[in-house]
Amino acid sequence: MDDPTQTAPSLAGACLCRAVRYEVHASPVMTGICYCTSCRKLSGAGHAFHALFPAAAVKVEGDVRDYRWMADSGHQVTTSFCPICGSPLFGRSSGMPGTLTLRVASLEDPSAIQPQMAIYVDRLLPWDHLDPSLTAFPAMPPMEKPA
Ligand SMILES: [Zn+2]
Ligand SMILES: [Zn+2]
Repeated sequence: MDDPTQTAPSLAGACLCRAVRYEVHASPVMTGICYCTSCRKLSGAGHAFHALFPAAAVKVEGDVRDYRWMADSGHQVTTSFCPICGSPLFGRSSGMPGTLTLRVASLEDPSAIQPQMAIYVDRLLPWDHLDPSLTAFPAMPPMEKPA
């Protein structure tokens, strides 16, 4: 705890019913708002805000249910959600082993993380909003490998 190299703030989050709670002890590797069709379906909104973390830095309490599917990228994606209230919480991709994306909106303080980029903006819906100050990619960013 007193390790001075441990400067990353700790973040906490939970699903709507709070049966699943989590803590993160790391700074995000990458953050971005995604306008893809899958994020739209999963969030019930025009886009989803994700933050990528080392999976080992995320401690989960409570049981999640997983749903797997093949993403446009050709990678197998796993979404973890609360089996009681259905809130989407985490995502994993076979293209980025050892990492986990967190739904920023599930944090207790979602304003603690700022988006760095917007992806799949080709799919932006007429009634949704895109922050013009963000680096925008029509689909996935060309460099898909962070870290
Ligand atoms: Zn829940
Ligand atoms: Zn997406």
